[in-house]
Amino acid sequence: MPELPEVETVARQLSPAVSGRRIERFRILDDLLRKEPTPPLRGRKIRSVFRLGKQVTFDFGPRPSRTDDPLWLLVHLRMTGRLIAEPEGGRGNPPHLRALFTLDKGRLMFIDTRRFGTFRWVRDLEEGRPDGVDPVTPEFTPERLDELLEGSPSPIKPWLLRQDRIVGLGNIYASEILHVCKVSPHRAAGSLKPGERKALHKATVEVLERAIENCGTTFSDFQDARGVEGSYQQFLAVYAREGEPCPRCKGTVEKIVQQQRSTFWCRGCQR
Ligand SMILES: [Zn+2]
Repeated sequence: MPELPEVETVARQLSPAVSGRRIERFRILDDLLRKEPTPPLRGRKIRSVFRLGKQVTFDFGPRPSRTDDPLWLLVHLRMTGRLIAEPEGGRGNPPHLRALFTLDKGRLMFIDTRRFGTFRWVRDLEEGRPDGVDPVTPEFTPERLDELLEGSPSPIKPWLLRQDRIVGLGNIYASEILHVCKVSPHRAAGSLKPGERKALHKATVEVLERAIENCGTTFSDFQDARGVEGSYQQFLAVYAREGEPCPRCKGTVEKIVQQQRSTFWCRGCQR
C-alpha cells in the first residue's frame, strides 16, 4: 500500500510528463471505475498533477468554449494501482489496464492488478480534501500535533495510522518514525511528554521528506510513474528487519502485531 512519499513521488513524476497535454480520448476499461458518472473530458487540458492526502490529483482545464468548468480527478492507488505516462504514445493495452487517456502527445494509463484503486471526480477540490492534517505542509506544526495527541488512550503506532488525524502514514513510515524519535509503539498517544511530542513531530517531517527525496520505498507492488522502484528501503532501520540488530543500540528488532497490523521496533532504545 503506497504511503504519502510514494503518492508524492507518482504525482511529481507525472506532472511534467502530462501537464499541458490535451485529452483526445478517455476510455474506462473496468466497470468498477464507472461507479460515478464520468464527466466529459475530450478537449480538456491537464493543468497539473499533485498529491492531495494519499490521492494523485489531476486538475483539468475547462472544456473547449467553456470558461467556468472546473474538474479534478482524485485517484486512490490502494494496493496495486499505477499511473504510467508514455510521452511517445505506445501501442496495445498492457495487462490489467483499467483506464486510458489518449493525449495530444502520448498517453496516460491506469494499471491495477488487484483493482482496489478508485477514481473520484469533483467540481470543488475541497470535497476531495482529507480530514487529517498533511504532515509535509505548514499546517502540521508541533502545536497541531499536541492538540491531536491530547488525551488519546490509543497506542501511538495505531494512532499514527488513523488517517483522520495525520494523513498518509502506513506501517512502514509509522514504524520508522517511532524508532527515530525513540518512542515505544505501545505508549498511549496522549501520554507522550512535551519533549517526546516535539521529537515525534520532527521525526515525522524528517522521515517523510527523506523518503520523498528518495522516491519512496519499494516493497512488492510499488513502482513510480516511470515504472521505477523507490530507494528509501536502504534507510529503513526497523521496518521488515525483524531479528536484525538495531542500527542505533544493537538490540534486536522485533515484529509485533497491533490492531492486525505489523509493527517493527527495538525495545532497547524505544521507551
Ligand atoms: Zn535500538
